[in-house]
Amino acid sequence: MSQYWSPAVRELTPYVPGEQPRERVIKLNTNENPYPPAPGVSEALRNYAVDHLRLYPDPTSLALRETLADTYGVSVAETFVGNGSDEVLAFAFQAFFCHGAPLDVPSITYSFYPVYANLYGVELRKHPLNNQWEVDLDALANDSERSGVIFANPNAPTGHAHSLESIEALLKRVADRVVLIDEAYVDFGAESTVALVERYPNLLVTGTFSKSRSLAGLRLGYAIGSPELIEGLQRVKDSFNSYPVDSLASVVGIEALKDTQHFNACRDNVITTRERTRQRLEGLGFEVLPSKANFLLAQHPDFAGAQLFAGLRERGILVRHFNTNLLNNFLRISIGTDDEMDSFIEALESLSG
Ligand SMILES: *Cc1c(COP(=O)(O)O)cnc(C)c1O
Repeated sequence: MSQYWSPAVRELTPYVPGEQPRERVIKLNTNENPYPPAPGVSEALRNYAVDHLRLYPDPTSLALRETLADTYGVSVAETFVGNGSDEVLAFAFQAFFCHGAPLDVPSITYSFYPVYANLYGVELRKHPLNNQWEVDLDALANDSERSGVIFANPNAPTGHAHSLESIEALLKRVADRVVLIDEAYVDFGAESTVALVERYPNLLVTGTFSKSRSLAGLRLGYAIGSPELIEGLQRVKDSFNSYPVDSLASVVGIEALKDTQHFNACRDNVITTRERTRQRLEGLGFEVLPSKANFLLAQHPDFAGAQLFAGLRERGILVRHFNTNLLNNFLRISIGTDDEMDSFIEALESLSG
């Protein structure tokens, strides 16, 4: 605490990201991609004219948004890019969720949403997951007064994804406010709601280059939604920082979007390894939630999550453990390479044997 801090800053509870260790470990704690970015990325960086860095980047990120629009089959006016999807989410909270009514969220979802709610003074109305650990879409839409609805699909850290039809039903019931679907993990096996953007002007879909495109260090995220929602985001962006996406990130992002073959190959590898890991965990007696993401959420009936987390850490393997009542017994395990997952399973065998 400092006397220099504004009162509101004293009240904040900032998000705590998974650690980024300096020593070599097997890192299965922050859902990064174990495979490198598309080969075109290194080439674009090698060919980048450094003199460009003298100039401010295009404040509209037009070239990147054109490629994004092509990739997702939408118009440029339906796209927005930012410095990681976390920033896009922050803009969305300010642009759409400050109506003085509660924001409907699942009680278990991406833990950055409560942090933004706190920052922007938005009250949350939390709805428990159903008994299958799935987001309860009915409950989310039950009340009549709200500032909006937000959740991740696939959800974090459970990995469950709803179908397009179920989400469409929700959009119909919440037509007067923005429904934000965070698709950070959609590429690992879920259906994207981008297909619904044209019919639902209240749908905002966010995505990231951090997971399925192996670019977490670049900080690039996007939103797709109706032109009126995109304009709302732009109004916030241009009142905060008109140049969130730098010139290098634009060039790299374009290359990553263009290489569908590399993208598909990495995604398929992650999915195959995920299913293999799930089976092996089940073989060790774990309960593993079905996942459409690049991570698994698992718990063991005989070993506490904190205990396994600590034992793995001693063996140089980092996973994520959440110190909350509901998730206390679980581990969230990002999917690495097959070799990394072999080491992880071996470590677990020695811990639970
Ligand atoms: C990783 C993640 C993000 C943030 O992605 P960045 O683009 O790296 O900021 C957003 N939402 C969810 C659910 C995530 O897991």
